[in-house]
Amino acid sequence: MTKSNTLIEKMNKHSAHNYKPLPIVLEKGEGVWVWDVDGKKYMDMLSAYSALNHGHRHPKIVDRAKKQLDKIALCSRAFHAEKLAQFCERITNLTKYDMVLPMNSGAEAVETALKLIRKWAYVVKKIPKYEAEIIVCSNNFHGRTVTIVSFSSDADYRDSFGPFTPGFKIIPYGDIEALKKAITPKTAAFLVEPIQGEAGILMPAKGYLEAAQKICKENNVLTAFDEIQTGLGRTGKLFCHMWENVRPDILIVGKALGGGIMPISAVLADEPILGLFTPGEHGSTFGGNPLACECALAAMDVLEDEHLIQRSQEMGEYLMGKLRDLNSPYVKEIRGKGLLVGIELKKEAGGARKFCEALMARGLLCKETHEHVIRLAPPLVITKEEIDWAVQHVKDVLK
Ligand SMILES: *Cc1c(COP(=O)(O)O)cnc(C)c1O
Repeated sequence: MTKSNTLIEKMNKHSAHNYKPLPIVLEKGEGVWVWDVDGKKYMDMLSAYSALNHGHRHPKIVDRAKKQLDKIALCSRAFHAEKLAQFCERITNLTKYDMVLPMNSGAEAVETALKLIRKWAYVVKKIPKYEAEIIVCSNNFHGRTVTIVSFSSDADYRDSFGPFTPGFKIIPYGDIEALKKAITPKTAAFLVEPIQGEAGILMPAKGYLEAAQKICKENNVLTAFDEIQTGLGRTGKLFCHMWENVRPDILIVGKALGGGIMPISAVLADEPILGLFTPGEHGSTFGGNPLACECALAAMDVLEDEHLIQRSQEMGEYLMGKLRDLNSPYVKEIRGKGLLVGIELKKEAGGARKFCEALMARGLLCKETHEHVIRLAPPLVITKEEIDWAVQHVKDVLK
């Protein structure tokens, strides 16, 4: 019995079965590499669903987190904190929004945006109480709370968890005509992912966000972009929507914001919107804690100092080029932006899971998204040589 097997048994027995992880047990990580409890080394091509854009334990972020631990880690929002003030200034300068509201998880940031949209709908747009509608897209993934799964189109996420929160309308992703038709005088906002990561790296046609923003503006409807997975360099731009000439009214970030160390998420908007919250209307005990803020500050510094956004763009092109050259009989399409890459397999290939298991046996960790897509989303610090190593294994497995 290996150490891994013993621990997996404990998991099966004592942990809720809300995940189906690959059968390895990790103990250590560094950069793009992780080690299991039996000492086997793997390349991490999942990056905690893009929360690890900076790689595991980036030394500069770890160093600043350690120093922060020697000062103050948590104080709640009942008091001001040095690090929160610095974080708010830094992230609003980076993103060019007036204001920020920090939370912890991505789902909490999405919930925050939904509350904000509804308040704006009643106070500013003067939609009758409580009739505001928010338009979302099919195959969306915005998190796991009851309200968020209320507007999921995925049966697994949703089916056992009603009664559901009303006030949402689902339209097909990438369909501008559907958006036009769905808007009514009661529409408050359009919430969308620039690339649908969890749905299998689905990319709308070029110009979709721009067209959507134009229609929304014409109808006094807010745009809210969920960049929790696609943000902070993942797709080769600071935010994925920057591939187009758009600026959402509300920007939602999370995952990599904490530099792969601490959970921290945020909602960004200008003062006429985010200024609507008054004391008592929203909050979070851990939201914006000094330790998470310092990790986010370090993460933003590293993103810039190490040119990770440019790297993501270059390495992404390099990776996709190499994957396209493989000419595997199983592959239907290679797609992506920056280092968010999907290999969609043909139905005959029999699902992506068994390929992910074969890659794991060779020391490369990635995960199927939905049935037929292998997602490759390594930390942005990955080198060309490391990509070459990974592609060789993908090639052998897809032969
Ligand atoms: C991961 C993710 C979320 C939810 O974030 P959590 O931190 O898991 O709550 C929301 N939206 C998108 C696009 C995501 O990828």
